[in-house]
Amino acid sequence: MKKNLILVLNCGSSSLKFSLIKPENGETLLSGLAERLLSEQASIKINVKGQKKHTAIPHPFDHRTAIMALVDSLVSQQLNLQICAIGHRVVHGGEHYCMPTLITDEVKNTISNLSQLAPLHNPANLMGINAAEMVFTDVPQVAVFDTAFHQTMPEKTYIYGIPYALYQEHGIRRYGFHGTSHYFVAQQAAKTLDKTINESNFISAHLGNGCSVTAIKNGKSVDTSLGLTPLEGVMMGTRSGDVDAGIIFHLINQLGYTTAQVSHLLHKESGLLGVSGLSNDCREIEEAWLKDKNPRAKLALDIFCYRVAKSIASFTASLTSIDALIFTGGIGENSTLIRANIIDQLSLLNFFVASDKNQACCFGKAGNINAENSRPILVIPTNEEWVIAEQTSQLLFNNSSTKE
Ligand code: ADP
Repeated sequence: MKKNLILVLNCGSSSLKFSLIKPENGETLLSGLAERLLSEQASIKINVKGQKKHTAIPHPFDHRTAIMALVDSLVSQQLNLQICAIGHRVVHGGEHYCMPTLITDEVKNTISNLSQLAPLHNPANLMGINAAEMVFTDVPQVAVFDTAFHQTMPEKTYIYGIPYALYQEHGIRRYGFHGTSHYFVAQQAAKTLDKTINESNFISAHLGNGCSVTAIKNGKSVDTSLGLTPLEGVMMGTRSGDVDAGIIFHLINQLGYTTAQVSHLLHKESGLLGVSGLSNDCREIEEAWLKDKNPRAKLALDIFCYRVAKSIASFTASLTSIDALIFTGGIGENSTLIRANIIDQLSLLNFFVASDKNQACCFGKAGNINAENSRPILVIPTNEEWVIAEQTSQLLFNNSSTKE
């Protein structure tokens, strides 16, 4: 039996997202999500060829038993023997990793040490790696880092205006995230425009629950809006994005917040949710504005769009030309309202939206949405899983990509 499939795992503290992918063309043979891990309600949803199966996960309801439940499904589909490698999404690679990396004990130690910089993500990613190693004992495992694509940023973009010793001694600098997504859409955009990636200049806006904007010069990331942690930059679903750091001291010193409460406020209670007071889900906020004329929903949408537009405009400082503006992520791929609102604020940069084309690009449909007199504006559905599968395969078996 041909061993040509990559299992891609994206492990959170209580969840595990998985896809079984053909690296050469991104075809997904099986995918799904295990949720509420480490609780008795743990369950796994598996999609195979459009058929969805939902089952409980056996005791002790952890990542390992979730992967074992996944293996049962793979065995029943006779897919398990075709897996040649596992690719893991790892959030923080610090300055250690700018490329996909074969996982060894030393690499696991480094990922663990980097937990200081990503306490919510790296320990969960490691749990997934350890669980996968226990179940797939003979299968090579590769880490693909969310920060890797941004390791090409120049010093002037990644050093904060704080004492340099904090960078030297503690690695406090801007790292950026969503790198795999920005990399993917840049490759796709270059193909769409019939340009080589090394000569392509883009600004990409990944707008989902988490949001980031990246400037890409000659195919490489030169600036991005997320920083040391995924809290910096534009406003997001529940995260504030940029705020005056003085707010933190005000909350603590004047209003009696604990640091844990401030962290919760900025990560979980802010953004679209905090401003609207309704939801972090963009669809619900759009509905509250369009149907009920809820003014706070409108304000949340206006702030969101203005901040993204401002970030896009600011990134022109990193570029000498722009071949296209790219929208991706759940909001970027689907919200015609938000795309139009953002683009309307970028007319000085010669970006103009074509309303009919904008309406046509939703639900996974890629395309250009620019008016005739505008620079190109592309909507490109992201596919981080395919990148992870493709890079894992390339590292281990030197298979060349279809995306270059
Ligand atoms: P994550 O960052 O968790 O991967 P996604 O990229 O899936 O998130 O994006 C989720 C966001 O996309 C949510 O705010 C959701 O409301 C929004 N979204 C999805 N479909 C639409 C749509 N048709 N119109 C507006 N927003 C949408």
